[in-house]
Amino acid sequence: MRLGCHLSVAKGFYAAVENAPKLGANCFQYFTKNPRGFRGAKPPDPVDAQRGREAMARLDIVAVGHTPYLINLASPDDELYHLSIDALIQDIAIAALRGTYAVVVHCGKPKGESVEWGIRRMQEALEAVLAQSQVEGVTVLLENTAGQGSEIGTTLEELLAIADPFPQAKVGFCFDTQHAFAAGVMRAEDPLAFPGFSESAYMDRLLAIHLNDSKVPFGGRKDRHELIGRGYLGSEAIRRILQDPRLQHIPFYLETPVEAEAEYADEIRACKALLAQAG
Ligand SMILES: [Zn+2]
Ligand SMILES: [Zn+2]
Repeated sequence: MRLGCHLSVAKGFYAAVENAPKLGANCFQYFTKNPRGFRGAKPPDPVDAQRGREAMARLDIVAVGHTPYLINLASPDDELYHLSIDALIQDIAIAALRGTYAVVVHCGKPKGESVEWGIRRMQEALEAVLAQSQVEGVTVLLENTAGQGSEIGTTLEELLAIADPFPQAKVGFCFDTQHAFAAGVMRAEDPLAFPGFSESAYMDRLLAIHLNDSKVPFGGRKDRHELIGRGYLGSEAIRRILQDPRLQHIPFYLETPVEAEAEYADEIRACKALLAQAG
């Protein structure tokens, strides 16, 4: 099974790949560019990307890219909407260059518009992205949201509706445990009852899990991650998710709020201990 964490690529992609096994990770996530902005990012160095790809093959590591938070594929603002489409096209190219199988994007915020309007807007954005993207082999993963403000994509129904017109190889899902808990669609007492886990239309497209505890209670509708076992979701719920046979083939990525990257070694150890624990 694959278990890893979010890693910085500030020292290059190759350095991140080499760092992963030192932390006990056999998969990792990186930001395709500055998470808080669209601009200012250097284009990725093809030599570094090539070395990273070779190291991933040698060390048996897989990776996903995460797009900047400013991307809003459901934005009613035309300027932000088109910037978001262009940014995602770029991020898919970056992911392809780095030999990473997917890019994660949060579902959008239609602001004052309806959920249905937001779903249609996101579909149009994805159509434009897929039509203009020049690369193959990278799936766009729609991440479920915590339901902050006007965010769509909190419920299984909304996620399935957005992805429905697209081929599985092009548009998939990333499931974030903290977001699902905060959105009120997955309970700590019964996390495996999240309806997506028993829905093939969801599971067939599920290519990444963000494994995070929660700083906010059930239904708190805030995107606030906590260290494993320290939050409202808790160790027992996380153990059950980690051990669910339906999820064993999907890479788990920690995005817990560590002070320094080296602390992910402790977080990964904690997850491995939970995995080994009898239910
Ligand atoms: Zn996440
Ligand atoms: Zn989050």
